[in-house]
Amino acid sequence: MIRLRKIINIWCCILSVIISAGTSYAAAVPDPGESVNVPVIMYHSLLDKKTNRWNISPEEFEKDLEYLSQNGYETVFISDLIAYVNTGGRLPEKPVVLTFDDGYYNNLKAIPYLEKYNMRIMLSVIGESSDHWTKHSDETCERYGHLTWAHITEMISSGRVELANHTQSMHKNTGGRDGCCRKKSESAEEYERILSDDVETLQEKMEKISGIRPECFTYPFGNMCKDSDIVLRKLGFKATLSCESGINVLRAGDEDCLFRMKRNNRTPGETLEDILKNLKA
Ligand SMILES: [Zn+2]
Repeated sequence: MIRLRKIINIWCCILSVIISAGTSYAAAVPDPGESVNVPVIMYHSLLDKKTNRWNISPEEFEKDLEYLSQNGYETVFISDLIAYVNTGGRLPEKPVVLTFDDGYYNNLKAIPYLEKYNMRIMLSVIGESSDHWTKHSDETCERYGHLTWAHITEMISSGRVELANHTQSMHKNTGGRDGCCRKKSESAEEYERILSDDVETLQEKMEKISGIRPECFTYPFGNMCKDSDIVLRKLGFKATLSCESGINVLRAGDEDCLFRMKRNNRTPGETLEDILKNLKA
């Protein structure tokens, strides 16, 4: 009798392994040439007052997560997309990426909602802004304040935040330069040195606090030039993000499709459902 029970137990174990393996294989498994459509949503600030088209209220953000959750979407990191395209990683059936640009202090408000809905975001940090607010932290400055490095460390430790490079000091349009684009007066060599120095400075800071060297670069203002992707690829980046709207068609084995990925601004007063329905490739 005891022996029979043992045999039944063993078969139950084998059966549960088969069932759980079946569940995990339900996710998309890329074959070379296979593709998946991935929407990327762009957020900046979570503020109660709707001051401009770059911020929504925390309640609206919660509604977005609720919609995604109820409609079968699963948030993934950009590193998951890189793994899907470059190394045969898997993605859920309906992947979506939520990005937060500039590293505003008010982004801390996202964390409890991410916990509640089991979601994740990518945070694009401006190095000099977080350096400044680390030295002159003012948590009353909700609108323009940026995250300190301690805040960023705290966000990473939630396991729900991945970092991207948004330049150390090139998030501006001054001195004849648009964001991180090459100036007309610069040689290709000068430009490569300037962009590399800037981006590497921030890479080192982010690697120091997270132990991970980001592989995604977010173009300041979505401004880019022919030379910028070339330099960023040399620096080891595997993905870059634009501000052009639309949906991304990611093809397994095609590493180019990860560059200049499209993103869609989440403006106040709009629903995420409408944004997702109107996306075109
Ligand atoms: Zn920005």
